[in-house]
Amino acid sequence: MSRETATQLDEAPDEDLVFAPEDDIPARDSREVWRVLAVDDDKGFQDTTALSLRHTRILGRPIQLVQAYSLAEAARCLAQDRDFAVILADVVMETEDAGLRLVKGVRETLGLFEPRIVLLTGQPGFAPVSRIMEEYDLNDYCLKSDLARRGLKQVLTGAIRGYKQLRDLATARKGLQLIIESSSRLAAARSIDDLARGALIEISRLLRVAPEGIVCVEVPSASTVMASDCSVAAEAIVVRAEGRFETFVGAPLQALPDSRVRGLIEQALSGRIAIEISDAQVVFLPREEAHADYAIFLETGRTLEPAELELLNVFATNVSRGFGNVALISRLDRLAFEDSLLGIPNKTALRREIERLRLTGNGRGSNLLLFDVDNYSGLSDALGPDFTDRLLRMITARLQSFFPAPALVTRVNEDIFGIVGHDAQVNLARAGEVFATPIELEDSSYPLTACYAEIPLDTEHPDAPSLKRAAWRTLQQAKRRGGGQGERWNPTIELESGLRYRLHSQLLGAVDRGELHLVYQPQVELASGRIVGAEALLRWSPPSGPVPPDQFIPVAENSALIHSIGRFVVEQACTAIRRLDADGARALVISVNVSGRQLDRDSFIEEVHSVCASHGISPTRLGLEVTETSAVTAFEGAVSGLGAHRRLGGKVAIDDFGTGMASLKYLQTLPFDYLKIDRSFVSRLGDDEQGGQIARMIIELGRSLGVTVIAEGVETEAQAGWLRRAGCHLAQGWLFGRPVVLEQFAECLRNQGRGA
Ligand code: C2E
Ligand code: CA
Ligand code: CA
Repeated sequence: MSRETATQLDEAPDEDLVFAPEDDIPARDSREVWRVLAVDDDKGFQDTTALSLRHTRILGRPIQLVQAYSLAEAARCLAQDRDFAVILADVVMETEDAGLRLVKGVRETLGLFEPRIVLLTGQPGFAPVSRIMEEYDLNDYCLKSDLARRGLKQVLTGAIRGYKQLRDLATARKGLQLIIESSSRLAAARSIDDLARGALIEISRLLRVAPEGIVCVEVPSASTVMASDCSVAAEAIVVRAEGRFETFVGAPLQALPDSRVRGLIEQALSGRIAIEISDAQVVFLPREEAHADYAIFLETGRTLEPAELELLNVFATNVSRGFGNVALISRLDRLAFEDSLLGIPNKTALRREIERLRLTGNGRGSNLLLFDVDNYSGLSDALGPDFTDRLLRMITARLQSFFPAPALVTRVNEDIFGIVGHDAQVNLARAGEVFATPIELEDSSYPLTACYAEIPLDTEHPDAPSLKRAAWRTLQQAKRRGGGQGERWNPTIELESGLRYRLHSQLLGAVDRGELHLVYQPQVELASGRIVGAEALLRWSPPSGPVPPDQFIPVAENSALIHSIGRFVVEQACTAIRRLDADGARALVISVNVSGRQLDRDSFIEEVHSVCASHGISPTRLGLEVTETSAVTAFEGAVSGLGAHRRLGGKVAIDDFGTGMASLKYLQTLPFDYLKIDRSFVSRLGDDEQGGQIARMIIELGRSLGVTVIAEGVETEAQAGWLRRAGCHLAQGWLFGRPVVLEQFAECLRNQGRGA
């Protein structure tokens, strides 16, 4: 409508009658009233119309009439509000063709296609040509005189029905848009199934029929038979089905007993076309869009309207894209969940599997196993990345054969694998067997070891990441014990890790604050009971109270703190030696404990010796105790450092012997003077056979290697007697003396000197 027309004809009679006052309008919502715009300059006609529609209900709703007395007024009215179901327009108003111009304006200028328009005329001679009827989608055309005969209500009912249908389709279209959006959101959940179900349900909602249908996809045939033209044979599978077809989900289309339906779907898939018949539809989704050819069959029970068919086309395009997106996402999914080097699931996949198992049955009966190849970086440095890649593939294959599906073998990190599965299959014992035989690669065999940790999935960890962290801590615990070790998760590991963190921060500066000191425990000759030396044991007494060495020493050993603390220990031991010497005691050997991490440091032994030198102490007076496990894990450092100490006449003891992983091969290379029988065997002496056997073997081993054997943790006379008889040389334990501060130890020596 041109502005010109609107201003030209501005003289509206009786404004009050023209527009229903705003607050009279019950609701703007077209779902509650049908809004009808009557445009006519004939006041008489307008009044009758208003009167006759006052209590009229059409398709269950009242009519809300808005009246305009000219084209210009109608224009103003439509500019304010376009939500009309029907526009009743007189052809002749201010001009001969005002009604036609109104129609044009509504459709073209305002772009309103839904309101139905009924053209009215008082002149029997006028009839718009059918071109205009078509072009402007006019619903009806009638003589005002006829209107009385046909009844306004009936005319409006037809128009409103048409309007409603269009509105419904528009709503469906909007709905469809939403469906597609939600479908692609569903696609993120990587499910073709969800999308297929959504498609079936929405398409039937759209056509207002019961969801009775099938979604089929064409996939390469499971059999590897090739068709004669060398294309891969394809077969159709029912992805999703609703209604009476429901039981065929997952079945091949061939299994469908209804030959008519089967035939229609086959026809759509082979011809790659949509099919419309009087009571059913097959929508075809081409692989170019949907990633694979899909056919959606739906029982409609009626012939579809052209508009519905059009809508179905839009639907097909959108759903095709949805399917395509799902395929894309599942490809992305592979990228995101697969380790690119090894082609096995990665840590994200591990997390997902953990979550899945925990969702189904709370993870009961399932374990997570972390498997960490020992010395991987050493191998990688020595042999190059290409080699380690191949080695990792061999390890992967080995793990997969040890933990076959349904267990899941994933790569978590460089050389760390995560395995989840049933606890009967995925457990420490099984992990311990993985490297029982070496890995064979390119005519060589590589004997490998690994540390591994097991954690049940039904622990109280709230989520997969915290469970994984717990598994990680358990693994660290295993690794602390050296190579080839396995550890099962237990709640104290958690407590410890929190504690460890706190301890570490407290331990920083403990040396400077003077919170550390040594205690000395006598080492005696079993035959004579004479004190020949002492082990220096570290004590930590922060203001909050003493912390046991078993707690703080691993914390120190796990950080660089052990170096400064180790140095402090050597300094204190040297001071003690000087102090005891000053007392005029016999020249004892004071032994300190040394951790693997210290041995790993190249400068370690030089530092020890420079401390000795600065205190004027001969290295022969300082003993070094190294646990079997540290000696083996820090093997190189142990061989060179301990060797250097012995060359200067210093003594070296292998501590906790019998509990670690030393093999005879290592023992023959390691430089040492003493074997210390672990306390656990000594305490079992007399109680059970095995403890005795182990102690006896160690004593024999010492004899054959030509080293002195010392038993630790001797608490009773019976144990001492047994050891003496078995030929053990030295002993240490509460029976002979508890660890005591230097002054007390000196006193103890003085007493013994007096007694001897
Ligand atoms: P360890 O080297 O095996 O030390 C022997 C442990 O046995 C000491 O525990 C000692 O107090 C305890 N013990 C001695 N005789 C008996 C006995 O008759 N019965 C019983 N039940 N226990 C006895 P402690 O002092 O708690 O030390 C624990 C561990 O802490 C040591 O084990 C050692 O591995 C480590 N440690 C102690 N001091 C140092 C140190 O200065 N440096 C390093 N790196 N580690 C240390
Ligand atoms: Ca020791
Ligand atoms: Ca020990």
